Amino acid sequence: MTKHAVVIVGGGPTGLMLAGELALARVDVAIVERRVSQDLAGSRAGGLHSRTIEVLDQRGIADRFLSQGQVAQVARFAGTVLDISDVPTRHPYGLALWQNHIERILAGWVGELAVPIYRGREVTGIEQDATGVDVALGGGESLRAEYLVGCDGGRSVIRKAAGIEFPGWDPTTSSLIADVEMTEQPEWGIRRDAIGMHALGKLEGGRVRLMLTEPHLGHTSEPTLRDLSELLVVGSHPTNSMPAALRIKLRPPSQPTR
Ligand SMILES: Cc1cc2nc3c(=O)[nH]c(=O)nc-3n(C[C@H](O)[C@H](O)[C@H](O)COP(=O)(O)OP(=O)(O)OC[C@H]3O[C@@H](n4cnc5c(N)ncnc54)[C@H](O)[C@@H]3O)c2cc1C
Repeated sequence: MTKHAVVIVGGGPTGLMLAGELALARVDVAIVERRVSQDLAGSRAGGLHSRTIEVLDQRGIADRFLSQGQVAQVARFAGTVLDISDVPTRHPYGLALWQNHIERILAGWVGELAVPIYRGREVTGIEQDATGVDVALGGGESLRAEYLVGCDGGRSVIRKAAGIEFPGWDPTTSSLIADVEMTEQPEWGIRRDAIGMHALGKLEGGRVRLMLTEPHLGHTSEPTLRDLSELLVVGSHPTNSMPAALRIKLRPPSQPTR
């Protein structure tokens, strides 16, 4: 059975960053990631804040991110943009850079540090004893680790297996997020109505990032293209004051996410 001092489950931003940190400290670390590549289905997070850029600078890799994105004043308080250009830091700004690029750059750095990534492997169970953890992978493989770290996202299998709860409050709002192609150019930006905030932003390749607040909470099924389409149509909700520019037919997008 292959052994490592530390096995990290999940090769998203958190797992990749931790793997880089441990490798710099000369710890024998490996990542298990169920995705076969670093590709993401959607655009997800849109950038980095100043403090994150500072941390990346301390690791000597800030320029890799800065050269691929667009610096801008993005810090906000209660919806107001704060100009932090006079804050005493080498990076008094944020960086607009989509998460797929952030992950690609982090994975490149982790690769240079020779961290093994077991791709296309899903952790299905863990067994802990006095000296470490057996990590079961789908397909009958397993790994042994002195320490296991769950960086496997909000629905973490590792967190649940370790009996760690996910306390918090019930949601007060629900949004649909999707990357789509549109037949007409919409009016860009953020608008607010009685339901909440809705936003349309430009993505690479002419696609559009939608963030639409839903009128009701409590959906349990995966959202569909029809759900998304209905939220865009003026008049489907009496209180919806979206402008006519949003009455747009959708071409097949990525699966929307709630
Ligand atoms: C649709 C969407 C839009 C978002 N928009 C924004 C935004 O605008 N701004 C923002 O700041 N954040 C946004 N986020 C949140 C951001 O994407 C997350 O905060 C970030 O990805 C968390 O990183 P992570 O590494 O902790 O987890 P994840 O990115 O979830 O990575 C977890 C990794 O673990 C892997 N994994 C999970 N289970 C297993 C298993 N059992 N075995 C092996 N591998 C496993 C997954 O494949 C994944 O690669 C968005 C997220 C989504 C889903």
